[in-house]
Amino acid sequence: MGKIWANSGDSHALEPLDLWERALPARLAERAPRVERSDNRETVYVDGQIMRRDPLSFAEAIRPPGAEDVTIRLTDLDDQGVWGEVVFPSRGFWIHNMTDPELARASAAAYNDWAADTIIAASPRLVPAAITSVLDTDDAVAELARARDRGFQAVYMPATPPPDRPYNSEVWEPLWSLAEQSRTPLCFHIGTGMMPQVISRGPGGSVINYVETFFPGQRVVAHLVASGALDRHPGLRIFVAEAGAAWIPALADRMEEGYRQHDMFVRPKLSRSPREIVYSQVYTSFQHDPSALLAVSALGYDKVMWGSDYPHLEGTFPNTQKVLHELFDDVDPAVRDRVLGGAFAELFDVPPMPVQAT
Ligand code: MN
Repeated sequence: MGKIWANSGDSHALEPLDLWERALPARLAERAPRVERSDNRETVYVDGQIMRRDPLSFAEAIRPPGAEDVTIRLTDLDDQGVWGEVVFPSRGFWIHNMTDPELARASAAAYNDWAADTIIAASPRLVPAAITSVLDTDDAVAELARARDRGFQAVYMPATPPPDRPYNSEVWEPLWSLAEQSRTPLCFHIGTGMMPQVISRGPGGSVINYVETFFPGQRVVAHLVASGALDRHPGLRIFVAEAGAAWIPALADRMEEGYRQHDMFVRPKLSRSPREIVYSQVYTSFQHDPSALLAVSALGYDKVMWGSDYPHLEGTFPNTQKVLHELFDDVDPAVRDRVLGGAFAELFDVPPMPVQAT
């Protein structure tokens, strides 16, 4: 069996432990994301709060050497058959749990400088997503403009926004405008932002909590479509990463029904149907889901990207070729090419992928 090449809409870099300590003035650095390790646990502190405590075994399992070293990363990608990839942060996710605008602004800029110097500079195959503050729209707009100048093609957004800044709010309008105008996809990664990490500790809690991480991605789409944000900005593309894809047609059905049957309550009115907006402006990525391919072939929703989620446990490393063959060997080549490269190419510019062996 030949190697299947894929572009990946979802992967992560692991920032140096001292990224913010080195880049920020001391009064801010002490409140930036910080990690402490004990014998068997790793604890993340942000702005004096304990954000997460994991067994060290989990922390180590999601950190192959390529997570931190971009040269090793590119070797891993070649080995796995991943060509281009969107690179999300890891520790940088915690910036969206901050409540101090100055700290968030400075921490995001420090992350972006690091990512430009180490990831963008390393290879045109790597597409890191820049971080902006979500506490202040002027800060977000300024950092998006700066990130574009530094070569970023994408911006990462938290799936759950601050409670006083929901994604259907007009406060975001300048960011939607600049993202549209600069053709910068806004990439919402699930499991991030101001949501509780643990919803259930009862029986089945692990799977329940895993499922819970994907609901905020659905809320993002509902807010941006129903509020008219995507309708007002037809050139704005959004991407919900790591949440699968087959829910999109079902969500579009739900919005169509609500929009039509509750017509007397609906505002604003949209110039296009919710389905039309979702099917043309909302992209998704999945790792393992066979249903994602049916969304393309049977349900006509084709903004679907595959993602390795390298180097995380939810992803496919180090078994990517096995997963890709299981998913794609019996699939129409047009659907395969769409999911492994075509949808990605609508959002991100990377060098041409090697020709598929089959
Ligand atoms: Mn991911």
